[in-house]
Amino acid sequence: MKAYTYIDKGNFGFVDKPRPKLINDDDAIVRITMSSICASDLHIKNGSVARAVKGITVGHEMVGIVEETGPSVKSLHTGQRVAVNVETFCGECYFCRRGFINNCEDPDGGWALGCRIDGGQTEFVRIPHANTGLTPIPDGVSDEQALFTGDILSTGFWAAKISQIIPDDVVLIIGAGPTGLCSLICTMLHNPHRIVVCESDSRRREFVRSLYPEVSVVSPERCLEFIRSITNNRGADTVIEVAGSDESFKLAWQAARPNAIVTIVALYDRPQILPLPDMYGKNLTFKTGGVDACDCAEILKLISEGYIDTTPFITHRYPLSRIAEAYNLFERRLDGVVKIAITPDSC
Ligand SMILES: [Zn+2]
Ligand SMILES: [Zn+2]
Repeated sequence: MKAYTYIDKGNFGFVDKPRPKLINDDDAIVRITMSSICASDLHIKNGSVARAVKGITVGHEMVGIVEETGPSVKSLHTGQRVAVNVETFCGECYFCRRGFINNCEDPDGGWALGCRIDGGQTEFVRIPHANTGLTPIPDGVSDEQALFTGDILSTGFWAAKISQIIPDDVVLIIGAGPTGLCSLICTMLHNPHRIVVCESDSRRREFVRSLYPEVSVVSPERCLEFIRSITNNRGADTVIEVAGSDESFKLAWQAARPNAIVTIVALYDRPQILPLPDMYGKNLTFKTGGVDACDCAEILKLISEGYIDTTPFITHRYPLSRIAEAYNLFERRLDGVVKIAITPDSC
């Protein structure tokens, strides 16, 4: 089968590989019916993911159909449509039992798919710990509706959850890229008093305005002033930072009111400075880290009930054979791209 592969720094390409086989008793083989490209794939391509293994098939956002299951896979059956979780987790270790699956102690635990083990920009993928790593897609939910469940939508859901949003809150979300958009729609599930999205790209600001007219949208230059104007100078009750620049990190704590929760979802290229003397008395709570993507069943239920819809984020569609073109578009942010759906060539 054709597998889009991390060959070397700066170089992804198709490699012919055999169809994956079951290795462990709780593995499953999934035939991929749709996948996507994530910013983390670009980080691998650019050589900035130290753990990424050369020669692995890339891709960790996907849905598909269960083709084969090992004898210990109890929660799934052949032919079932499933969303694949970006994180591999055993479900039994110290961290998994507490819901902190990103830190699963299993050797394959955490983000392994499309990074340390073969991922999904291909035709078939082996999923370790399939009982926890695959979630059945409810009838009536399409592949496009379910596509982001295991990765960016899980991230947005987790970010909104750990931000402890209450109905009185003014929530500021910094960054309206794909993960920022997912954080936005998951924040909406908590019904805060007001949501403000800060984004530097004018096309992305327009995209948010067109989809969610009830959300206030500002540029970074106007953000602090705007937040102060709507909060009696207090600042935002909750800040979710998804943009990942030095400026956006600074804006996140500056825009927060005293005693706010500041949730850092973004990945940064370099360390950030917390000027604690300037913050003294502000009593902020910072939450940082990588998603614990263990709410996929709840997310799929919310999709099936119409509370979550990420399909407007799919702005482009490509067959697998033309995935290099899709990467070029995504990497250079051409043509207003937000997310791309990759489908098998036979479709
Ligand atoms: Zn991702
Ligand atoms: Zn575990």
